[in-house]
Amino acid sequence: MNRKSRILAVAAMAVIFLTAVILAVHFYVKPKSDRVNIISGGQIVRTIDLSTAEDCQFDIIYEGRRNTVEIKNHTICVISADCPDLICVKTGAMGADSSGPVVCLPNRLVIEFEEASADGKSG
Ligand SMILES: [Zn+2]
Repeated sequence: MNRKSRILAVAAMAVIFLTAVILAVHFYVKPKSDRVNIISGGQIVRTIDLSTAEDCQFDIIYEGRRNTVEIKNHTICVISADCPDLICVKTGAMGADSSGPVVCLPNRLVIEFEEASADGKSG
C-alpha cells in the first residue's frame, strides 16, 4: 500500500466513523424521557408524563406570582403569566420535537425534561 492510498483509506475510515457516531448520537438522543419536571422556586412541584397526560390547564403560583401552564396534544407551554417579560409565554410549546426548557426567571419557574439516566442519583 503506497502513501496516497493509505491516506485515502484513513480518510474513508474517518468518514465512516463520523457517520456512525452521528447516527449513534441521533438514535441515542431521540428516545428521551417524556417526563417533564415543573420546578418552582427551585423545588419540583409537579412531574408530568407528556406521553400520557390529558389536556388540561393549571396555575403555578410562586410568592403570589402566577404562570398558567397548558398541556395540549402531549406538549406543554406557559399560556399566560404575570411576569414583566413574558419570555416563558413566548418560548411556546415544549414537546417531543423541542427539548425546551421553558424558563420564567421573574417567577422562578422552570419546565424541563427529566434527566433520562438515574445513575448515581443523590439528594
Ligand atoms: Zn415569564
